[in-house]
Formats: sequence, structure tokens, C-alpha cells
Amino acid sequence: MSEVITASCLCGEVRISCGDQVGAGGYCHCEDCRKATGSAFGVNIPFAAETFRVLSGEIGSFTKTADSGNELTRHFCLHCGSPLYGTSPQHPHRVYVRAGIIDQPQLVHPASQSWCQSKVAWAEIDENLPSYPRARR
Ligand SMILES: [Zn+2]
Ligand SMILES: [Zn+2]
Repeated sequence: MSEVITASCLCGEVRISCGDQVGAGGYCHCEDCRKATGSAFGVNIPFAAETFRVLSGEIGSFTKTADSGNELTRHFCLHCGSPLYGTSPQHPHRVYVRAGIIDQPQLVHPASQSWCQSKVAWAEIDENLPSYPRARR
């Protein structure tokens, strides 16, 4: 029996039951993911729409036609702004959950990278950077 994957936003108002089948997710280096996450790239994990349930919280959405030509709707917490998941009419049976909101991060295994032509140099972390176990002092 597999564990049900759950997800939640930064403020905790949004709680999601994603399902028990973790799809093979991936990194996305497109500019839209960079803007929407505020980070170097997006990491998205697909779940079956049939088992995906928002349990609580108020969710906003923003729809844009991506460079791929696909219409993509990005959903976020209306209270804290955390990116939550993406949906597309091209893939009605899938919900792409932002990996960072998954409550069991050890179950996340990105399996590919897309839009590498848009990748920024700082998407790779230099192993030689000063590193600290907690906040830098
Ligand atoms: Zn929130
Ligand atoms: Zn992207």
C-alpha cells in the first residue's frame, strides 16, 4: 500500500491531497517558471487529476499561453502567494504540483529537464561556494 502524498503552502491554509502515485517529474528551465517561482527553475511533479483534491484554502489562478503554445494555468495561495500547481487543457488528466510544496520531499525524484535552452548559469550550484548547515552568519 502506498502512502498518500500531501502538499501545503507556506501559510498552511492550502492543504492538498495529491494521490498515491508520484509521477516522474522534472525540472523546467523556461522563463515562465523562473518568473512564477522567483527561482532558477521550476520543479513539477504530475499527479492524476482524478485523485487530486484541494482540501482547504483559497486559491487564485493565472492563465498564460506558454512558449510551447499550450495554455497553462498556474494556481497559487491567495493568502501567502505560494505557487501550488499547474493545469492545462492539453493535459486534462494531469495536475503538475510544484515539488517544493510536497510534504514528503523525500518522495520527489525529478527525472528530466525541459527548456534547457532557457537555462540560466546560476541554475547550477557551484560546489565550491561557502556552505553553512543553517543560516549564513
Ligand atoms: Zn498560503
Ligand atoms: Zn516552465
